Amino acid sequence: MPPREKRSLTKYVFAILGTLSFATFCLLEQNFFKYFSQRLTILQRILADSFVHFCVGCWCWVLVRGIHNNHIVIEICLAGLFSSAIDIDHIIEARSIYPKDLINIHHRSLFHTLTAVPVASFVVWVCSKYIWGLILKYKSLEQLKPLKGILIVSPWIIAVAWTSHQLRDALRRGISLQPFGVTGPVPLWLYVAIVTIIPNFIRLLVSFLHERKQLT
Ligand SMILES: [Zn+2]
Repeated sequence: MPPREKRSLTKYVFAILGTLSFATFCLLEQNFFKYFSQRLTILQRILADSFVHFCVGCWCWVLVRGIHNNHIVIEICLAGLFSSAIDIDHIIEARSIYPKDLINIHHRSLFHTLTAVPVASFVVWVCSKYIWGLILKYKSLEQLKPLKGILIVSPWIIAVAWTSHQLRDALRRGISLQPFGVTGPVPLWLYVAIVTIIPNFIRLLVSFLHERKQLT
């Protein structure tokens, strides 16, 4: 088999196996979480929930980009961090860092609204263009040039990370589509279906839109 065809076959196999194992992880973590959360303190529950959001964000980005160099490992970590960091808006909303106050918020805050995702992606896109402009302009920033690939995909990282977080939260609280309203809680099978389809769809979109820009 020619090397190019072999590479695309490997990519397809990786995508299928990655998607299936991710779906299994999503199903298992929900059942584990349900079972163990009764035995955890509120703080432990918040930390465990945040950690699972981190893992889901990372795994989604692995499905988008695969793992083939160090820069992609940075992207994967960023996706995980962005995904778990959304819950900071509970602290902003509650004006408190005490776990009891954080779980007593009954309405959806700004970062937990799906309609905020395209806006956040656009803001990150504008910022990444500006940062790339600075890198090209100043010689002292030349060593940051290898980060070009990360800057190009950064709006997609935000989109995938925030969407995955909100979909997982939607299992209990529905999807917030402010100012249009909030849906009912999303069934587990639908969550798993959407959260596995989205990174695969974005993978196709990213490779179609950015292939010529030689992502590293
Ligand atoms: Zn959340």
